[in-house]
Amino acid sequence: MDFQLTEQQETIVTAVAKICAAFDDAYWLDRDTTGEFPQDFAQAMADGGWLGIAMPEEYGGAGLGITEAALMMRTVSESGACMSGASAIHLNIFGLNPVVVFGTPEQKQRMLPPIIQAKERACFGVTEPDAGLNTTKISTFAKHTGQSYVVNGKKIWTSTAQVATKILLIARTTPVEQCAKPTDGLTLFYTDFDRNYVEVREIEKMGRKCVDSNQVFFDSLPIPEEDRIGEEGKGFYYLLHGLNPERVLGAAACVGIGRAALRKATDYAKERIVFDRPIGQNQGIQHPLAENWCEIEAANLMTLKAANLYDAGKPCGEYANAAKFLAAAAGFKTATQAVMTHGGMGYAKEFHVERYFRESIVPRIAPVSEQLILCHIAERVLGLPKSY
Ligand SMILES: Cc1cc2nc3c(=O)[nH]c(=O)nc-3n(C[C@H](O)[C@H](O)[C@H](O)COP(=O)(O)OP(=O)(O)OC[C@H]3O[C@@H](n4cnc5c(N)ncnc54)[C@H](O)[C@@H]3O)c2cc1C
Repeated sequence: MDFQLTEQQETIVTAVAKICAAFDDAYWLDRDTTGEFPQDFAQAMADGGWLGIAMPEEYGGAGLGITEAALMMRTVSESGACMSGASAIHLNIFGLNPVVVFGTPEQKQRMLPPIIQAKERACFGVTEPDAGLNTTKISTFAKHTGQSYVVNGKKIWTSTAQVATKILLIARTTPVEQCAKPTDGLTLFYTDFDRNYVEVREIEKMGRKCVDSNQVFFDSLPIPEEDRIGEEGKGFYYLLHGLNPERVLGAAACVGIGRAALRKATDYAKERIVFDRPIGQNQGIQHPLAENWCEIEAANLMTLKAANLYDAGKPCGEYANAAKFLAAAAGFKTATQAVMTHGGMGYAKEFHVERYFRESIVPRIAPVSEQLILCHIAERVLGLPKSY
């Protein structure tokens, strides 16, 4: 058992922190105010070669593991970029894993390098308004005609659809009532986000304003067969394949939010003098922050354990889910405590912790909610009856 980072992993953390230092809290506050996508940040990460960290070397990636990608994601978030920074690059880093694992050599050559170089931006269309977390109930339909498909339907919450040029899309190709199992009959595509056939309506939301989320309506979007990933009808299984790394990267971002919030809270608690002494001298201020530290670092260990298991090719579902659950809770709790530690100033934008707080709520909901994680662990780890 070795809890130490390797020299290479330490170097990754240092190098990513150096890039992020150029994008400080003032930068992210400005983006949060204007809503402008942080393209210069994403480009700086691409130029440093970081977007391809876990992609195969033959397509321009670094060929490293999810452990290294998680360390990178944690460092981005910990810089104060929080979910604004993490979500701006999340899909580039691991979203195209189905293409890496199930794509043809031609697809990999065509699809991966532009994403690694940030020349293309992809959005991810899974969630639908009438299906919610039950992905098998999606109704967006891709009709197979000749050499292509025609897609009609709608998605919701599709992040970065305002700036995307590509979409990783899951759609039904066989009506659910004609399938042996509800998880059959879903097909995955990676294709042009052709705005001639797609309408995008932005959702006004609580935080992470610079990384847009949207309703997306498809009106006979044509998709050539060569943009289908893997076999028709197997899309759900391809998506499942990438879930654990996605949980790990999300957990790492939450640990980063927690660390950033804790840093701000402790700095303020040392400086702010009330009743002739720093507020941080009071145990009522100290103890919640100390508890936050314990919870964040425990979540960090769980995140790295899940990443380590994944990279070793071992089953890691329960650890990846637990990491996401614990880290999201710890990030949220710490961000909340950071606001409270600042008193009234916690509510002022110039102290930044209110933004951390708003952004810390996202990973509690997406890409999977706390309840569904607990359902998974209850069923798969504890052997309790399936409840949903
Ligand atoms: C900022 C943001 C960005 C997002 N980006 C994307 C994106 O890029 N692409 C994409 O496809 N999706 C995206 N999503 C969608 C996100 O993945 C979903 O919101 C999330 O999976 C929850 O689904 P839902 O909103 O439909 O909730 P619902 O399925 O409607 O559930 C509502 C609540 O009920 C609970 N619930 C439901 N069933 C049960 C049950 N059986 N037992 C206990 N509790 C239950 C859920 O846990 C949840 O708390 C994003 C969401 C947000 C907020």
